[in-house]
Amino acid sequence: SRYVSASTAATLTVGIRVRPLVRAEIARGARRDIIRVLDSRVVVVLDPDENKDYLDQVQNRTKEKRYTFDIAFGTLCTNRDVYNGTVRDLIGGVLQGINTTVFAYGATGSGKTYTMVGTPQDPGLMVLCLEKIFADRDTSHRDEDFYVTCSYLEVYNEIIFDLLVKSSSPLELREDPELGVVVAGLKHITVTSAAEIMTLLEDGNRRRKTEATDANASSSRSHAVLEITVKRTPKNHYKVTQLRGKLSLVDLAGSERAAETNNAGQKLRDGANINRSLLALANCINALGKANSGKAAASYVPYRNSKLTRLLKDGLSGNSRTAMVATVSGSADQYHHSINTLKYADRAKEI
Ligand code: ADP
Ligand code: MG
Repeated sequence: SRYVSASTAATLTVGIRVRPLVRAEIARGARRDIIRVLDSRVVVVLDPDENKDYLDQVQNRTKEKRYTFDIAFGTLCTNRDVYNGTVRDLIGGVLQGINTTVFAYGATGSGKTYTMVGTPQDPGLMVLCLEKIFADRDTSHRDEDFYVTCSYLEVYNEIIFDLLVKSSSPLELREDPELGVVVAGLKHITVTSAAEIMTLLEDGNRRRKTEATDANASSSRSHAVLEITVKRTPKNHYKVTQLRGKLSLVDLAGSERAAETNNAGQKLRDGANINRSLLALANCINALGKANSGKAAASYVPYRNSKLTRLLKDGLSGNSRTAMVATVSGSADQYHHSINTLKYADRAKEI
C-alpha cells in the first residue's frame, strides 16, 4: 500500500525485517527459526510448537500465519538491502524540501537499533541516508549552498534528552513561528560526510537509558530520534529560494507491552509512558490514513498527545512521507512478540 493521494500527498511504506537467531538465543537452546520470507513480500510464521504432527498440519490445525507487506527482508538481507527497498527513494524528496520520517518498530531485541545504526561493517539506515545525501550533493548539487545538520535526542518517560552531549538536562519543546516545533537548547551539528556520524551515534546510544528487565535483556525504553536537516539553495532559479527538508529517523522503544514484563514501580510507569508515545503515534498514523482515504474529510490528528508525536508532527502531516521498518526475530520463543509486531504493521499498511 504505497499510498499516494492527490489531495494530501502523505505516503507510508511498510517493510518487515526478520533477523537471524543470535548467538545468545542459540545458547539458550532457541534453535528454531520459525519465520520465512517468500517473494520479498510475504511473511510466513510457522507454528511455534514443533510437536504438531503432520495430520494437524494438513487439517490446518496449526497456528501458521501469513502476512503480505510492501516489502519483506529475510535473514540474509543486509542493512543496505533494507535501505534500498525502503528509504533510498525518499532521499530525493528530502532534497526537494519534503519532510520525511522513518521508524523502526518492534520488540526489544528484534533488531531496531541494528537496522537504524548498524555496525561499521554493516552501517544502518541512519548512516546510509547521510551517505546518499552527500553522494547526491556531489553529483547533482555541487555548485549550491548545501548544508546538512544533525541532532540526536531521546524521549524517555516523556522527557527529552540530548544524546549528542555528555549529561543532558531535560529539554523543552517550543513552538517557533518560523521553524515549527523545536527543542530548546538541543545541539545541532554541521555534518560534511557520512563517516562522521557513526561514532556520534554509537556515543549517543551509550547515553540512552536502558534497564535490564526480567528477561535479562538490555531493554530500551527510550525512543531515539536522529533528525537530519538539509538546506540548499538551487542556483538555476530566477528566484532564489532556500529549500529545507527534514529527515527524521526514529529508533522506537521496545513495543512489548509493559504488562508482559514483571516490572513494578518506576519501570511500570516507564512502560505506561512508552505506550503513550507508541499509542499516540499509532493514532496519528491511523488518523492520517483516514484523511488520505478521503473518508473523513478533515480528520483530527492527535499530535499533541505525546512528546514523540509533537516532535514528529512536521514529518507526519500534510506533504510528507513516512516509512516503517518493523523488525522481528525469527526465534520460536519470540513468537508472541513477532505476531504482535506483524499485526501492527499489517494494520498500518492499510493506510
Ligand atoms: P533492538 O534495538 O530492537 O532492541 P538490537 O538491534 O539491539 O535490537 O538487536 C538485538 C541483537 O541482535 C543484537 O545483538 C544485534 O547485533 C543482533 N541483530 C539484530 N539484527 C541483526 C541482523 N539483521 N543480523 C545480525 N544480527 C542482528
Ligand atoms: Mg535498541
